[in-house]
Amino acid sequence: MLSIDVVTIFPRMIAAPLAEGIVGRAVSRGLARVGVHDLRDYSENRHRTVDDAPFGGGPGMVMKPEPFFRAVEALLEGGPGRDDAVALLSPRGDRFTQKTALRYASLRRLVLLCGRYEGVDERVGRTLATEEISIGDYVLTGGEVAALAVIEATIRLLPGALGDETSAACDSFCEGLLDHPQYTRPAVFRGIAVPRILLSGDHARVRRWRRMEALRSTCMRRPDLLSRADLDEGDRALLSEIERGSLEARPALESMREAEPGMPKACEEVQDHEPHGKS
Ligand code: SAM
Repeated sequence: MLSIDVVTIFPRMIAAPLAEGIVGRAVSRGLARVGVHDLRDYSENRHRTVDDAPFGGGPGMVMKPEPFFRAVEALLEGGPGRDDAVALLSPRGDRFTQKTALRYASLRRLVLLCGRYEGVDERVGRTLATEEISIGDYVLTGGEVAALAVIEATIRLLPGALGDETSAACDSFCEGLLDHPQYTRPAVFRGIAVPRILLSGDHARVRRWRRMEALRSTCMRRPDLLSRADLDEGDRALLSEIERGSLEARPALESMREAEPGMPKACEEVQDHEPHGKS
């Protein structure tokens, strides 16, 4: 079972959202445990102070190292083991990705340290935390919302957390691509029809359409992912089709070929493959 501990000056910000939905269910079924700890309980003075003015001057306050060290030493006696991580939430950290979430889902203990104010004394990130993680290139007022994002992305990957085990495997980023578009009833809404192929009942064509649309979305929205994605010959043929149908897709595909010079030119390549039916 994965045990997560969050250290924060605002414990109530963490507790309520974790009681809901898939995460709440996973916790109540014992797939994960989440403990929330008030950093002020680990302060060394009676005023429960956890911050101080920055050395060198400047605006705002900096979070002191001692309460974080005391908290983590109380939570992980003997320090973090091989299957444990202590992550400081920080905009200066490594980007938190689906890959990080997968790694966290395989841990025994995960301790998340939330900063506030101007940030946390550097010695926490450097010597107490095993890593620093950022949830994106923007600055939040504190680490709590970032910790919730990390917890949610991690817990939903635990075996048994989702109703349908295949669902997480089909999500965006799992195979290095964005997910395909999803539709539900009604088949026509405000004059916009669902792609006909999805109503055809032909599972092989639906699968192919979904792969094509996943490739198309990635190509148009996140071309940076494409050159690192796990693509087979069928995918390359689909990409060539996308390229022929869309001028906008060309710059992304060209830069992918630059990153991966072995990839054949689109138009010649498709001639070696069975012609694909249009959806
Ligand atoms: N002065 C800091 C900087 O520019 O890097 C920003 C401090 S921020 C106002 C306060 C706290 O919010 C940080 O210590 C961190 O815990 C959290 N935080 C803010 N943005 C974050 C992000 N993108 N990812 C993870 N944590 C973040």
